[in-house]
Amino acid sequence: MSSHTQTETGRAATAAIVRGKGERFGIESVRIGPPTANEVLVRIVAVGICHTDAIVRDQYYPFPLPGVLGHEGAGVVEEVGANVSNVVPGDHVVLSFMSCGSCRYCDRGEPAYCSDFFMLNVGGARKDGSTATCDSHGDVVHDHFFGQSSFATYAIAHRRNVIKVPKDVPLEILGPLGCGIQTGAGAILNALKVGVGDSVAVFGVGGVGLSAVMAARAAGAAIIIALDVTPSRLKLALELGATHIVDSGKENPVEAVRRIGGGGVDFSLDTSGKPSVLRQAIDALGIRGTCGIVGAPTLGTEVSFDINSLMIPGRSIRGICEGDSVATEFIPQLIELYRQGRFPYDRLIKFYEFSEINTAIDDAAKGQTIKPVLRMPAQ
Ligand code: ZN
Repeated sequence: MSSHTQTETGRAATAAIVRGKGERFGIESVRIGPPTANEVLVRIVAVGICHTDAIVRDQYYPFPLPGVLGHEGAGVVEEVGANVSNVVPGDHVVLSFMSCGSCRYCDRGEPAYCSDFFMLNVGGARKDGSTATCDSHGDVVHDHFFGQSSFATYAIAHRRNVIKVPKDVPLEILGPLGCGIQTGAGAILNALKVGVGDSVAVFGVGGVGLSAVMAARAAGAAIIIALDVTPSRLKLALELGATHIVDSGKENPVEAVRRIGGGGVDFSLDTSGKPSVLRQAIDALGIRGTCGIVGAPTLGTEVSFDINSLMIPGRSIRGICEGDSVATEFIPQLIELYRQGRFPYDRLIKFYEFSEINTAIDDAAKGQTIKPVLRMPAQ
C-alpha cells in the first residue's frame, strides 16, 4: 500500500478517524485533496450520523482502516475539478451516495443499484484505488466513504453525488437527506409507491422508520402503524403521522398489525436489520402485500419464512437501497415537502459539536437521540 505520498499537497483539515475495528473515533489533523477533474472539494458545515457509520466502524462491512467515515454531509463548494459543471464555488450542497454513471442500472435511472455500488461507497478509495486523505505523518487514510467521507471539515465528493440545494434552508439540517432520511422516505414514495388509502406498518421507528412514517402520511396512507420497543419513539411517531402505535415488547406485533389493518397491511417496512423483526414484517402483510427491507444486518445473515404464506396470497419481499433514490431529483422534492410543513424531519435532529462524535453515536445507539448531526468547527 502506498504511503507518504501527499504531504506536500492538499488542504489542512480536521477529520474523525477510525483506526481499528470497533474503536472510538479520534479527531486528527489531516490533509485532503486536491479534487480530480470530476471531483468537488466541499467545506463541510454539518454532517449527520447514520447507523451505517457505526456498523462500518464495527466492520460489518469490510471498509479498510484507518479511514474517515461520514456520509450525510452538507456544506459549501470550495473548489471544483475541470470537468465539473453542475456546481460552482459558493453553492450549498448535500452529499449523497456514489454511483458509476455508466453501468446498466445507472443508465436506466437506478443509481442506488449501481453495479459498482459496494466498491464506490464502501471501498475506501476512488475506483482506481487512489485516496485523497493523509494523516499528520503523511500516511494514507482511507476515504471516499459513500463518495464523501464527510466526518471532516473538508471532503472530496464527485460531481455525481453533489446535490445543489437552495440557500434559504439552513444547511445544517440538510445532510441527513443524503442517506438516512431519503432511505426511509424513498422506500415509501419511490420503491413501495404507497398511495392514498393504503395501509402501512413500519417496524422500527428510528430515523429511517420515522422518515417512512412521515412519507406515508404525506402520501395519504389511511393506516400508518409504527412498531418499536422504545416508548419515546412511538410517541414521536404518533406526532409525526402514525395513526396507530404498537409496543412490540408488550404485545404480539403480528397480531396487532393484523387486527389494526383488517387482516394485514398493504405494505410493511423492516428498518431493524433483525431477522426476527423482518419475519414479523412479512407475516403482518395482507393479501398482495409487499414487505420492503431497508435494515442492514451483518453480511451472511439469513431469515426463514413460510413459502405458502408468501405464494398463495401473492405477497412480495423487496430489498430497497437508498430508497430507490435519484438524489438530484428526490432531495429537492423532500426539501419542498419540508418547506410546506409536510415532512418535518428536523424534529428528529439533535445537534452535537464535531468533537462530541463518540457521544453522539453512543446516544443514537442507546435510542436517546434519533438523528445526531455534528456541527463542524469554523475554518
Ligand atoms: Zn453504475
